[in-house]
Amino acid sequence: MIPAPLAEQTELEQIVAQGGGALETRVLHTVTVGEQELPVRVVCLGNPDRDVPAVGFFGGVHGLERIGAAVVLAYLRSLVLRLRWDAVLSRALESVRLVFVPIVNPGGMWRGTRANPNGVDLMRNAPLESAERVPFMVGGQRFSAGLPWYRGPAAGPMEAESQAVCDIVEQELLARELSLAIDCHSGFGLHDRIWFPYAHTTLPIEHLPEMHALMEIFEEAYAHHNYLFEPQSRQYLTHGDLWDYLYLKAAARPERVFLPMTLEMGSWLWVKKNPRQLFSRHGIFNPLIQHRQQRVLRRHLSWLEFLSHAASGYRRWLPVGAERVRRRQLAIQRWYLATRQ
Ligand SMILES: [Zn+2]
Repeated sequence: MIPAPLAEQTELEQIVAQGGGALETRVLHTVTVGEQELPVRVVCLGNPDRDVPAVGFFGGVHGLERIGAAVVLAYLRSLVLRLRWDAVLSRALESVRLVFVPIVNPGGMWRGTRANPNGVDLMRNAPLESAERVPFMVGGQRFSAGLPWYRGPAAGPMEAESQAVCDIVEQELLARELSLAIDCHSGFGLHDRIWFPYAHTTLPIEHLPEMHALMEIFEEAYAHHNYLFEPQSRQYLTHGDLWDYLYLKAAARPERVFLPMTLEMGSWLWVKKNPRQLFSRHGIFNPLIQHRQQRVLRRHLSWLEFLSHAASGYRRWLPVGAERVRRRQLAIQRWYLATRQ
């Protein structure tokens, strides 16, 4: 194996080699930065049948947030190693499809930038305009690729990395009756948050009852968890959010349920515990001390594992009929009327 320029890429290639025939993998796109050829790789395992539900795991959308890629890689590695002996896992994978794109923006990761090598913020890049009050700059801007949160040229095609995510979501996730997606980020606030759409409007999504039910079964099963669940719009609105865009695309077929979520790891806590991190560009987004990194990886594995189990058993918790109506009311109360969770 040729050594890859990124440590995360080397790790992914090792996992692929270890997984052998249990994995399906291909390169969705190759990013060229100078001499470097950096693949955007997808790895799938589990049942490919469109009749089973699926979960997509995404990381490294923002090149500086390496811990997001690390969390996705840690879960994938754990699955691959367990598949050698874990008969329960092997059986479980007959009823679910798991799709991994751990390094969506390898060029940004290689260069140490949030944006991709064209200066585009992939999470502001979808053709979706907010009609509400979006914060200046951070909500997405079209002034310059030299400034953060650049959306890319108006009316231009999406960046290849964003398009690769859209293509794989359409092929592997939206084709199913139920799919979940989790995109792992860091850099916002003191708490670990699970965000769900919308990011472009303060209105609730159509599948709010389903999102509410999913979060409730997690809270029941992991009573001492540390996540704060909320629609992203409770924090700030943005233009061009890729998950809003894909959610809206999926909603064109209302008989299918697609629930995309973002894990936002509250990195300010790591900075608070180790203020020297502030002087490192990577330190604001990643735990720099090894034991803390390990703790972060460990903590989020349960959440990713939960999503796989929840997808596989979705017929048992997805609300229908009057239960949908009840849950919508509860969710509106929790997230859209109450000022605090
Ligand atoms: Zn991010």
